[in-house]
This record gives sequence, structure tokens and C-alpha cells, in this order.
Amino acid sequence: MKVAIIGTGYVGLPTGVGLAELGNMVTCIDREESKINALKEGKITLFEEGLEDLFHKNVKTGHIQFTTSMKEGVESADLVIIAVGTPPHPITKEADMKYIHAAATELADYLTGYTVIATKSTVPVGTGDDIEMLISKKNPKADFDVVSLPEFLREGFAVHDFFHPDRIVVGANSQRAKEVIMELYKPFRSKTNMLFVKRRSSETIKYASNAFLAIKIHYINEMANFCEKAGADVYEVAAGMGADSRIGPKFLNPGPGYGGSCFPKDTNAMAFMGRMNGVTLSLINAAIEGNDLRKKQMAKRVLDSVAGLKAPKIAVLGLAFKGGTDDCRESPAMEILNEILQVSGPKVVVYDPKAMDNARKILGNKVLYAKDEYDAAKSADVLVILTEWLRFKKLDLKKLAGLMHHKRIVDLRNTFRPEDAVAAGFEYQGIGK
Ligand code: NAD
Repeated sequence: MKVAIIGTGYVGLPTGVGLAELGNMVTCIDREESKINALKEGKITLFEEGLEDLFHKNVKTGHIQFTTSMKEGVESADLVIIAVGTPPHPITKEADMKYIHAAATELADYLTGYTVIATKSTVPVGTGDDIEMLISKKNPKADFDVVSLPEFLREGFAVHDFFHPDRIVVGANSQRAKEVIMELYKPFRSKTNMLFVKRRSSETIKYASNAFLAIKIHYINEMANFCEKAGADVYEVAAGMGADSRIGPKFLNPGPGYGGSCFPKDTNAMAFMGRMNGVTLSLINAAIEGNDLRKKQMAKRVLDSVAGLKAPKIAVLGLAFKGGTDDCRESPAMEILNEILQVSGPKVVVYDPKAMDNARKILGNKVLYAKDEYDAAKSADVLVILTEWLRFKKLDLKKLAGLMHHKRIVDLRNTFRPEDAVAAGFEYQGIGK
């Protein structure tokens, strides 16, 4: 099948590479010229485990190509996938639809023959109707259907999730469009649950799922606070809870608050849609408020750990919103750092294995950048862990302790075993124990 993907970011690129690997002829379109030029030169523009090899392989076979030209990508496509951003509106926090509307309007002129337009971007209920209207208005003769095809991949596992989806949700109001999507996902049909639903249900499923996961994270974070005061261990509590098949063990991992480019924006967008529809979504609102507060509380923990020290040095390990990605958008690390940097006095040095370039764009010269974990720890007064990178678990605690001025760890990801940190000479503070 000939597929055009509009938006070559964290969703568009892995999806494009995955579809190319399945034998489709894929054209990835992006308006960012520097991104397309890099991809054309064979340089991958984001980090995802396993993506680079598949990218090179499919560039070589000619199954995937890159362009800034909407015409070039859309004209011959049987299927156009929209994967542009839907960031939060700065004031209302609703999903900002300017990129979606622009993409729909720009593609309209180049539709030839019957084409399915599938929205993989996370979009408010009713967006399928809006896209339909925009295209028909611009090109009344166009023969097309609009399908909602929400994306559930996890950053850090994007390639794995592309090839092993838990479920594929298709919101299609026409049989003809359904058949195109069934053909696209033919390789997965025998092993994956494919749900065909109303387009508006499909649009809602994505928000309802992300909001539920955010609530689950917020819940275990509050349990962690409780365990700290009550003398319980949140991991034992989570294991006991998760053994109940009605609850399940996933997303019961306490941390500094949920973040990333999806959960904060999608919970806010869902809350906005609730308000617009006159529906109370109290759990979602509580999670949003509680999660914002949690990041402030975590920053306070860090600052408390160096209270009383003159010009303390805080070494931060981990900047990406989670391990396995270089993505810093809405990263709890960025928000915690932002709180810490409001206070004059501490000097902050940071390190992340993959996210240094992206972090630099956000933090600029407000912090110092280390070349590795040990470099960050040199003469620091506290070591703070903000992202759950596996490699941090393997750090030599004795060596770190030897480099530091005060031997303190505030581990907001419970990376180390407290007994190991204490044995290496640290005062250790984790979460929920
Ligand atoms: P991104 O910012 O990484 O990528 C979006 C790309 O779209 C950018 O490269 C941008 O230049 C391009 N773009 C914007 N308007 C364009 C236009 N008119 N023509 C061509 N290109 C255009 O965003 P992302 O993280 O890939 O997210 C995309 C969508 O997918 C969002 O709605 C998001 O909520 C959703 N989603 C994201 C994830 C995730 O983990 N990142 C998971 C599931 C769903």
C-alpha cells in the first residue's frame, strides 16, 4: 500500500519505519526542513531502541522516503496518516488543533482517487468531522473517508509496540475505509485484538485510556506518601494490589509524578472536554492537581536535602521524561529543576545518557552539563535521580561516594537498593519506604 505520513516525530517516524518494514511504500512528510534534510542524509532524528537499524534498512530498499512536499507524499497515497502534534493550548489547556487543521487543509488539494485519511494524532472528540469538513470545503470533488486510528505506542518502546500492539482501535464510519485499514494491519490480524468502533468512540478511547493511566500513577504516588508516614513499603503494597487481576501490576510504580508529551496534555484536554460537555470528571481533575503538586513536593525534598549549606552543588542524573527516550517534553525532571532553579544559591549540574541536546534547548545556561554520571557527582552535595535509566542501576556507588562532598542521595526513581547506598556511605532517601 502507498502510505503518506504527515508529521515525522515520535509517532510519525517509528510508524513510517514500521509500515515500510511491513512492505508498504511510505513517504514521511514534515514541514521542518532541517528534520527532513537530516533524514534524507541518513541521520536519525530521535532516539528509540531498534529504530535506527530498521530506518537504514528501509531507506536502502526504497520503502521509505522523506519530503517536505505535501504534494509529493499525498498525490499517490492510498492512505494518508496524520501524526502532527496536538500540544496544549497555553491558556485553556485544550488540545491546540492548529497543526491538525493546517495538515487537513494542506493535503486536501492533492487527493487523487479514493483516499483514506487516518488520524493517529490524539485529537478531541469530533475532530474527524472537522477534518472531513475542511477537506470537502477546500476540495469538494475529493473522494475520501476520515478514520480515527489512535496511537498507543510508548516512547522508549516505540518499535516494539509498533510490531506488538496490545490492540488496534479503528474508528471508521464507512465499510470502504474499514477495509483499507484491515488491509494495512493484515500482518497483525491473527494475533492482535482489532476493535472497530464509532469514530467518536475511538477518539474518546485514547483520552480515556491515558487519563486512566495517569490516575493510576497518581494513585500509587499518593500511596507512596502514605507508606512513608505509616511505616509501610509501597513496593510490597503495589505487589499485593497488583496480584489482584482486577487491578493488575502495571503502572503501580511510584515516582516524581507523571510527565511526558502525552499524559499531562491529554488529562488536561480531557478535563477541558468534560467542562465543554458539562460533565464532571473529578478523578481526572484530582490527578492533574495532585501531579502538579507532587513535582513541587519533590523539588522541596531535593532542596531540603541541602538546606543549611552555602552554595550547595546539586548533581542531577536523568532529564528525559522516562528511560529509553531523549524526549524532555513535560519531563518531571524539567519541572523539578525549574522549581529548584527558582531558589538562588544552589549550583546544578546535570547528566542524561540520551537527552542532553533536548535538555539544553530547555535549560540553556541555567545549569552545568556533565560528561557522565561520575563527572556530575564531583564535589556534589547531593545526587538526585530523576529518570529511571537502567544504566544508573549499575553505577559504582563507592566510586560516586568518593567523588562527592556530602554523601547524600535523593532517589526519586528508587534506582538503588537503600542498603547498598548506605553501605557505600550515603545518607539515602527514596520514595515510599
Ligand atoms: P512530534 O512533535 O514529535 O511530531 C510532530 C511533527 O509534526 C513535527 O515534526 C512537526 O514539524 C510536524 N508537523 C506539524 N504540522 C505539520 C504540517 N502541517 N505538515 C507537516 N508536518 C507537520 O509529536 P509526536 O510526539 O509524534 O505526537 C504526535 C501526535 O501523536 C500527538 O497528537 C500526540 O499526542 C500523539 N501521540 C504521541 C505519542 C508519543 O508517545 N509521543 C503516543 C501516542 C500518541
